[in-house]
Amino acid sequence: MSDKPGVLVIVDQLQGDLRPIALELLGAARDLAGKLGVGVQALVMGHKLGDMPQRLVWNGADEVIVVDQPELAEYTTLTYRKASISVIDSMPKPPHIVLCGATTIGRDLAPRIAAHYETGLTADCTELDIGEYEHKGKADPTKVGTYQNCLYAIRPSFGESLKARIIGPWKNPQMATARAGVMIPCGEDTTRTGKITPFTVKFDKEDFITKVIETVRDMSSTVDLTKAKVIVSGGFGLGGPDGFEVVRDLASVFKNSAVGASRKTVDSGWIPYAHQVGQTGKTVRPLIYIALGISGAIQHRVGMSQSGTIIAVNKDEKAPIFQFAHYGIVGDLYEVAPILKEQFRKSFAEASVGAK
Ligand SMILES: Cc1cc2nc3c(=O)[nH]c(=O)nc-3n(C[C@H](O)[C@H](O)[C@H](O)COP(=O)(O)OP(=O)(O)OC[C@H]3O[C@@H](n4cnc5c(N)ncnc54)[C@H](O)[C@@H]3O)c2cc1C
Repeated sequence: MSDKPGVLVIVDQLQGDLRPIALELLGAARDLAGKLGVGVQALVMGHKLGDMPQRLVWNGADEVIVVDQPELAEYTTLTYRKASISVIDSMPKPPHIVLCGATTIGRDLAPRIAAHYETGLTADCTELDIGEYEHKGKADPTKVGTYQNCLYAIRPSFGESLKARIIGPWKNPQMATARAGVMIPCGEDTTRTGKITPFTVKFDKEDFITKVIETVRDMSSTVDLTKAKVIVSGGFGLGGPDGFEVVRDLASVFKNSAVGASRKTVDSGWIPYAHQVGQTGKTVRPLIYIALGISGAIQHRVGMSQSGTIIAVNKDEKAPIFQFAHYGIVGDLYEVAPILKEQFRKSFAEASVGAK
C-alpha cells in the first residue's frame, strides 16, 4: 500500500453488484486527490468479487484493496466495520480523506469508522472540495491556526436555503458520505492501470453476534430515478393521488423516463417514497426534468437543480421554481401537460432521448 495518505473510497457493492455511487465517488476522489497531489485508493469488501477490483482501477482507483472472504458475502455492520478498520490500521498513516456513499450501507458503516477514529463525518454531501481554513476560535486555543488541504464537505443546511461548508481538519481521516447521482464518474478507461492488493481480515466470534437470515428486496424502491434520462415529477398542485396519472402519461412519451415526486405528495400518501426527489429523497441529474405543480422549495431544488433542462409548470407566476427553471410555463398543469406531451412527441422524435 502507498505510504502517502491519500483519498480512500469505500466501495458500495451489494451481492456482487457494483453500485453506481462507487464510480461517482471515484470520480470525486480523483478530483480531490489531484488537488492534494496524492493517490486514490478503493476498498472493496465482499465475497466472489470477480472482476470488480479491475473495474475499479479502470474507473479511477490507483490502488484497490480487496477483502474477498465468505464472512463478507452479506453486509453486516460489525464484519464490514472490522474489515474497514483492519485495512485502515494496516496503512502507514491513516488516509487524508475517506468517502462513503450516502446509501443504506454507507450511512451505517461510515459513522462506525468515524467513531472508531474519533474523527468528524459530514453526511449527505452534494459537493466536495479542498481548501484552506483559518481557525480563530477562542474556545480551544490549541486549535487556532491556518489549516491547509482541508476537506470541504458541502451540503444543504437543514431546512434552510443555504449550502453549508463543513470542515473537520483537526484529525485524519476527514470523512464524508456523498449522495448518489451528484458526483461525476471519470468514465471507464480499460487502459488505466493500478495496483490490486488482496487483504485478509481475521474475524472473531464477537463479529458475528448479528446474522442475516434473509434478504427481501423492497419492490417499492425499485424505481431508479438516478438512471432516468427524463423525469416528470408531480407536486401538491396535482390535487390528489389521481393526478399522478397525468404525470405518468407525460413521462410515457419518453424512453428511459421515470416519475418523480415532491415530499408533500409522498407525505400525503399519494405515491411511494421511492419517487421522492430532494434533500430527503433522491438527488437526480436527468437530461430533462419536468416539474408539474411543484413550488420549488429549497429542499426539492437541491435534489434536481443539476438537471440538464428544467421545465416548470405552475399556475402561480411567483412560484420559486421559476427562479431556477430553464423554461417556465404559467398555467394549469391539467391543461398544459397534454399539450407538452404532444409537442414532445413531435419535437423529440429524432433526438437522443427519443419519443416512443
Ligand atoms: C428537513 C426537510 C426536508 C425536506 N425534504 C424534501 C425533499 O426531499 N423533497 C421535497 O420535495 N420536499 C422536501 N421538503 C418539503 C419542502 O419544504 C416543501 O414543503 C415541498 O417540496 C413542497 O412540495 P410541493 O411543491 O409539491 O407543494 P407546494 O409547496 O404546496 O406547492 C404546490 C404548487 O403547485 C402549484 N399548483 C397548484 N395547483 C396547480 C395546478 N392546477 N397547475 C399548476 N400548478 C398548480 C401551486 O401554485 C404551488 O406552487 C423538506 C422539508 C424539510 C423541512
